[in-house]
This record gives sequence, structure tokens and C-alpha cells, in this order.
Amino acid sequence: MRIIKSVSEMQSYADSLRMAGNTIGFVPTMGALHEGHLSLIRKSIEKTDKTILSIFVNPTQFSPSEDFGKYPRDFERDEKLAEDLNVDVIFYPSKEAIYHDGHSTYTIVEGLSAQLEGESRPSHFKGVSTVVNKLFNIVKPHIAFFGQKDAQQALIIKKMTADLNLDIDIFVCPTIREDDGLAMSSRNIYLSPDSRKQAPLIHQALKEAESLHLNGEKNPEMLIRKITDTLNSAPIARIDYLSIVNSETLLPVESTNEGALVVVAVFFEKTRLIDNILLTTSK
Ligand code: AMP
Repeated sequence: MRIIKSVSEMQSYADSLRMAGNTIGFVPTMGALHEGHLSLIRKSIEKTDKTILSIFVNPTQFSPSEDFGKYPRDFERDEKLAEDLNVDVIFYPSKEAIYHDGHSTYTIVEGLSAQLEGESRPSHFKGVSTVVNKLFNIVKPHIAFFGQKDAQQALIIKKMTADLNLDIDIFVCPTIREDDGLAMSSRNIYLSPDSRKQAPLIHQALKEAESLHLNGEKNPEMLIRKITDTLNSAPIARIDYLSIVNSETLLPVESTNEGALVVVAVFFEKTRLIDNILLTTSK
């Protein structure tokens, strides 16, 4: 496994892989790898010839009040996990390699970036779409892999790819969960023991809504009420947003037809967790 830190070296290596006829799969991450990330890597290895994992804690997607400085970092552990899975390259650039002095160009996906997460974290998706666009230009993948856990992010990346005519397929992988249903996230380590105990209620609440929907409840207000009641039974939980939206436009739906997405962000003390579930008409 190669570890590449330089942008130009990564670009030349990607060129050489392509020249040799390989398809390149790309898994962008901020490191502190968990089973969610590993599932993306496994899917890339299954579907492509060469898998490139990037590890970059991207400063431009954090607001000044967020956790950029204390975001978990453990490169040695990540390296071992990647090696065990047969990743071909870890692209591990410095902040300065990605954002050179005087960097002033950004990629903004209007509309989708302003809703939900975008309302709570106004410049977050500007940072995400910018860094992913840059990483795409550096890693030159054929297919890039993202998690449904960050449903809005995956949609924004798909939209950016389509709008900018990028010749890259975006593959979205299912959310990987702990045994008790909590969606895996690098931020789960911030949870206090009490919060950790209560956090699986998020998934439980979403599953309850899914089952009500399957039993014929199509009124989003009723489903939202039920989810709110369940979440309120966790004394620490504080809902940041909870909405049932169209899974393509992210606009609220009036009736939960096939493909409506329940999206939620909940604070457990200072830790903000997000999750979602796609409502289907049959299981
Ligand atoms: P991050 O390191 O948090 O930026 O995440 C990198 C990629 O892993 C993103 O595409 C995430 O959506 C995906 N991811 C994070 N958590 C999970 C999870 N629990 N299940 C599946 N994918 C995930």
C-alpha cells in the first residue's frame, strides 16, 4: 500500500493507474475509520481495480465553533485498517497541500446545500463540495463511494457531479450501525456514557416511523409527532431538526409516498448526531 501526501504525485500515480487500464475507486474520508468507512472501502475493492482512500480533515467544512481542532485523528490505526483491507493508496495530504496560500475558489451547490444540515451549519456544504471536487481532480476516480448516513451530502455530491459534467459515478452505500442501532460515526466517541446509552433512541424512533408508515400512516405530521415523542423520552436528547422530505429535492412532503426520507439531527449534550431512514411502501 502506498501512502501519498503530495498532490502532484497523487495525480501522476492516478494517471499511471488509468494508463494501465485500471478503474479507480475512491473513498474520501476524514479518518478515524470505523465499520461505516470500511464498508465503503470493501465496496470499492469489489467494484473497481484500484482503491484510493483519502484521509483529510477538511478545515473548510467546520465552522469556527465546531470541532476541527479536536476531531479524532489516528493515522497509524487507519493505516493498519486500510492495509488489512488491501487498499492500494492512502492519499494523506496536509492542509497546506490542499489549500495553498491564497486559495479562493469554492464549489457551491445551491439549493440543496441551504436546507436541513445547511440551515444548522451554513457554510458546511460549501466546504464539502469544494474539497470533494478538488479531491476528484487529484485522485481522478471512475467511481466514488459515499455513505447514506450522510444522505444530504451524497445528494449534493451527485448534483455537483451532474452539474459540472464530472465523468465519475457516485455510489451510495447503506448506513452501518452498532448492534443497538446507533449509526456509526467518528463523533460517537464524544458521547458521555449517559448519552451513549440514550443515543440508539434515534434509530428506534426512525424504525417506529417506518413501521407506522408501512401500516398505512402517510401523514408526515403524525409520523413526526411519534418520532418527537420517542426522542423526548431520552432526557438528554434535544432535537435540532426533524423533517420528512422528498429524497431527491429534500423539500418537505405533504404525504409520505414511496421514497420519502426522514432526516433528523439530535444533540446529546454537545454532540450532534444525524441519521435518516428511507420510507418504502413494502419491506
Ligand atoms: P467522514 O469520515 O465522516 O467524512 O465520512 C466519510 C464517508 O463515510 C462519507 O461518505 C460518510 O457518509 C461515510 N460514512 C460515515 N459513517 C457511515 C456509516 N455509519 N455507514 C456508512 N457510511 C458512513
